[in-house]
Amino acid sequence: MCGIVGAVSERDVQGILLEGLRRLEYRGYDSAGMAVINGESSLRRAREVGKVAALAEAISANPLSGHLGIAHTRWATHGEPSQLNAHPHMSGERLAIVHNGIIENYQELRDELKAEGYVFTSQTDTEVVAHLIGKNYQQEGNLYNAVKTSITRLRGAFALAVVHADEPDHLVVCREGSPLVVGVGIGENFIASDQLALLPVTDRFMFLEEGDIADIRKDQIKIHDRDGQAVERTITRFEHGSDSADKGEYRHFMLKEIYEQPRVIKATMEGRITDTRVLEQALGTEAANLLDNVRHVQIIACGTSFHAGMVARYWIEDLAGVPCSVEVASEFRYRKHVIQPDTLFLCISQSGETADTLAALRQAKKRASVPRWQFVTSRAARWCGNQTW
Ligand code: GLU
Repeated sequence: MCGIVGAVSERDVQGILLEGLRRLEYRGYDSAGMAVINGESSLRRAREVGKVAALAEAISANPLSGHLGIAHTRWATHGEPSQLNAHPHMSGERLAIVHNGIIENYQELRDELKAEGYVFTSQTDTEVVAHLIGKNYQQEGNLYNAVKTSITRLRGAFALAVVHADEPDHLVVCREGSPLVVGVGIGENFIASDQLALLPVTDRFMFLEEGDIADIRKDQIKIHDRDGQAVERTITRFEHGSDSADKGEYRHFMLKEIYEQPRVIKATMEGRITDTRVLEQALGTEAANLLDNVRHVQIIACGTSFHAGMVARYWIEDLAGVPCSVEVASEFRYRKHVIQPDTLFLCISQSGETADTLAALRQAKKRASVPRWQFVTSRAARWCGNQTW
C-alpha cells in the first residue's frame, strides 16, 4: 500500500509533508494529495493525479500553509486513479482523512450512510470512513472518540490519519494491518507510514502496534491500545547509515539480506492480507473480478526471481488449483510461444529493471489478443516491480 505523512508543528507543515511524500515515492503510487488546517481554522486541500511533482506545482500556485496537515500517495484499490478518488477525503468542509489499506465491508457501510443522506463524491472505500467519522463526530463532538467509535465498524486493513478544523491542534491516527510510525520532534510531532519519510525532521520514532489509536499534538503524544488502555511505545533512534544501503553489522550483503527476510516479508504483506485471507484489491481496482477468470498463470523471471517463481508455482497449483508455468525471461523472449487464453502473466524482478523480464513483458503485451489478459499483465508486473510500463 502507499504512503501517509502528517505533521503538527509551530512551523508551516506544507514543505515537511511534501518532502515526506517525495521520500515515499519509491513505493509506487498513482496520485497524491494534501490537506492543511490554517491559522483561521479552515481546512484546504489539493489533489493531483500522477507524480508528487504535480501536487507540488499545484501547491506552489495555491499554497496550503498551516500548522497541522496530512498528505497521501495513493495506490488505487477501490475506484480508478483520478483526482476525485485521490486522498485526502472529506466529510463536509472541516474533516479530512488519509487512509492506506482496504476496507472490506465498505459497500455495506456506504449503503447505510447513503440511506442516511451522506453524499459520496468518489468510488473509494476511504470516503466511507470519512463519513462514518463525520457522523460519529456529530454525536460525540470530539475527534478522538469519533475515530475510536468508527473503527469498531471497520473490517480489513487500515492506517488512518484524521484532522478536523474545529480541533486545529492535533491529529488522530490509528492502525490495523497497515504500518504507521510516529516521529517524535521537539515542540512538533509527525506520523508516517515509513520512517524514511520523516528523516529530515526527526530521527526518533515510536512504532504503533496493531489496534493502537493515538492523539498527536505538538507537545504531547497519547496512545491507547485496542482495549482502551493507555500505553507507552518505546522510542527508538534511527541510526543513520544503518539503512538498506549499508551492510551494518553483517560481513556481507547476502548475509544481511538473509537475516532481513522475516522483516521484509512482514512489510510486504502488511496491508495486503487480513487474518483470514488475501485482499486481492491490493493488486488493483479490477483484480478481484479478473482473478476469478484466470485459467493459467505464466511466471517470467530471471535469476533469484526465477527461483522464487518456481516456489510460487508449487503454492499456486497447491492452494489455488490453477496450472502454473515458470520460464526464464531470456528464453521466453527469444522463442515463439503459445499463450493460453485467460492467462495471468506475472513478471518478477527484484530491481524492477531486469532487461530480459521487461522485454518479455512488453512482447507478451503486444501479442496478447485478450484485453483482460493484457490488463492483468501490466498490473501484476507493476505490483511486483513498482514500475509502470
Ligand atoms: N483503498 C484506498 C483507495 O483505494 C487506499 C489505497 C492506498 O492504500 O493507497 O483509495
